Amino acid sequence: MQKEDNYLSFFSIIGPTIPQKYKADPKEALMMDCIACGSDLFHISYKFSSSAILTCNNCGLRFVRPLPDVEAMKEEYDKEYFSLYLSQYKKHREARFIEELIEIEKLCKTGKILDVGCAYGFFLNLARNRGWEVFGVDISEHAAEVARQLYGLNIFIGTLEESNFPDSFFDVVTLWTVLEHIPDPLSTLIEIRRILKPDGLLVIEIPNRDDLLVRTKILLGKISKGKLVNAEGLFTHHLYYFTEKSIRELCKRTNYKVINIKRITENWYIKDRSGFDVPFKICAKKLIRTLGKITKYGHSDFIVYAKKSQ
Ligand SMILES: [Zn+2]
Repeated sequence: MQKEDNYLSFFSIIGPTIPQKYKADPKEALMMDCIACGSDLFHISYKFSSSAILTCNNCGLRFVRPLPDVEAMKEEYDKEYFSLYLSQYKKHREARFIEELIEIEKLCKTGKILDVGCAYGFFLNLARNRGWEVFGVDISEHAAEVARQLYGLNIFIGTLEESNFPDSFFDVVTLWTVLEHIPDPLSTLIEIRRILKPDGLLVIEIPNRDDLLVRTKILLGKISKGKLVNAEGLFTHHLYYFTEKSIRELCKRTNYKVINIKRITENWYIKDRSGFDVPFKICAKKLIRTLGKITKYGHSDFIVYAKKSQ
């Protein structure tokens, strides 16, 4: 498929009206090369009322187009978005973060650590308790304020690029289920490379595109035409859906050397990512995760450890 064809078929999907929150810039629609591997061969996987999800034919990366406007996104990450963080996610995430900090400390000496998209600061608080000098960035004013109230953290409010840290400043930069929310992950990884020390470590947790739980939901949504589960709701905040191949390609393209990719299964977002309310809520977790264990689609997330290529 040529780029011009992509452009035309794309606009035939979304129709003549582009909602206010999306950039109505035709150039953006043409810039649909895969951010991970650079291929311009892709197909349409899902069509929604005002957007579509395209899949790279080469590396399997899925991506939303058109992209939302960053200023509009800043307002979306409000109190409502974070409503389950303290009541449901904190305990599970803290357990994960302790495990990951132990892993990180095996790979590098305790020093300066930056958490991009740090939300309420759960990770940074734990890192600081273990002797790290902590820094956080988040586009959400609400999240930064809560992080200040809970832990006295001073979070930069804005995008990573806006924060403008010095060159070679950090020993470690982390993104915990954040990269999939960022409109331009390619630029983000390039910027992180600039602010990481030569031997610095990048740690990225991203959802697995092929998670069986998510696939089941999409299938049920399609079969029931949205009556049993709302598949469109699943795609609200995630702009990219990574396969292992696609995250490897993106790291390679931005000059990182992948040290390890861990496959993990997290259930803290069971409601978020599955959307299985009654009657699926009770059985979904156990049934689908058990099925997942006997297939290659069992894990919910990848955790990627990478260093700068010299
Ligand atoms: Zn690709």
